[in-house]
Amino acid sequence: MVLVIGGGLAGSLAALALRERGLPVTLLSQEPAPATASQCSYGGVPWWAAPALARAPELWQSLERRHGPLGWQSCTLTLHGGCANPSAIATADPQALAAAGAGMKALLAAAGETGLDLLGDQGQLLGLELPYGRVDGVVLAAALPAALERAGVRRHTGSALALESPGGSPWRVRLAGGDTLEADTVLLAAGAATTQLWPPLAPELATSWAGVLALSAKDLATSDLPPGATAGIVMPLLGQRQALEQQTPSLGEARAVVDAGLAPWGADWLLGQISLVNPLGQFDPEPDPAWMEARLRSGLARVWPQLAWLPARYHQLPVSFTVSGVPLLGPVAQAPGLWVCAGVGAPFAALPPLLETLADQLAAGSGS
Ligand SMILES: Cc1cc2nc3c(=O)[nH]c(=O)nc-3n(C[C@H](O)[C@H](O)[C@H](O)COP(=O)(O)OP(=O)(O)OC[C@H]3O[C@@H](n4cnc5c(N)ncnc54)[C@H](O)[C@@H]3O)c2cc1C
Repeated sequence: MVLVIGGGLAGSLAALALRERGLPVTLLSQEPAPATASQCSYGGVPWWAAPALARAPELWQSLERRHGPLGWQSCTLTLHGGCANPSAIATADPQALAAAGAGMKALLAAAGETGLDLLGDQGQLLGLELPYGRVDGVVLAAALPAALERAGVRRHTGSALALESPGGSPWRVRLAGGDTLEADTVLLAAGAATTQLWPPLAPELATSWAGVLALSAKDLATSDLPPGATAGIVMPLLGQRQALEQQTPSLGEARAVVDAGLAPWGADWLLGQISLVNPLGQFDPEPDPAWMEARLRSGLARVWPQLAWLPARYHQLPVSFTVSGVPLLGPVAQAPGLWVCAGVGAPFAALPPLLETLADQLAAGSGS
């Protein structure tokens, strides 16, 4: 039996992939589920961003043929030129925008796709409109429990506290409340909690804290929506989150950036993203939600003042990432039977192909 720890995107898709290869699978998920990165995600699928992501749309459609609707849809990505951070003026440097636009178009061209320039009165680049795909987090969260059950994934509710491997015997997973689960193979897919459960992974796996506003459609006038919102996802051309994550090794103190994005989320909308990284990318301390929300809203006000102060629910959650950009995927060194799937960049595009390989290897009993 394979025990998958974590019922987010990574754990759920891994459980489905393992069942398809005939393995008995138990999925350990927390109940009530805390706000997670998977639920509060824009779910964007940039399949043209790298050759390894090219099959993502086809794989989501194939997952839907086998498991029913999971929220996949083709859409548009509109990249705007605004900047939500106090250190920069509201409209970013035209040269930086032009360079970022050229880089993006080179990626698209390499994938056989094209984007549309959004130009200002003087012919300057204001943004780009690109082909895109997305997986709606609300639809996915509602569909997964039934899809997992139909696929024969056994569900166990609980919170893992520790993993123990008494030499030669199955892995023992201690749960909050005193229960214990045993399995020969454990796949750790617990997002930012992965390093709490297996600390030797900590040097590679870091955590950022993300904050996002959930806007009810009834509080939002269509005329207030930025261009491109009704066709899909809107994000900044000069996004700040990735650059902040790459600075993790040199951060002497916690640092936060705001990206002005907007994505459909079921019948509602997700607005913005504030990302905070602690020194060394540590999980602790969790930032003050009131400070994070205020900073997010004041950043958004630089770009979309009509949206920044609307009534909205603020959600805050940890997101795992690797500074190198290389995901943690596969068997864990010096821990026979323990596998990991965490810190995957662009996971809505990357996980479907990566998990095919991981599940093949796990089913073959490979330790490579
Ligand atoms: C605002 C925002 C926008 C984003 N936009 C995009 C995007 O457009 N495209 C994209 O590809 N990615 C995007 N991401 C990133 C993406 O959503 C995440 O990287 C991804 O969902 C992480 O999935 P995961 O399953 O690894 O982790 P999580 O979603 O964090 O899931 C971890 C799971 O493990 C469980 N867990 C934790 N601890 C324990 C424990 N001790 N015992 C048992 N279970 C446990 C949790 O309950 C949770 O269900 C975005 C993220 C945010 C916050």
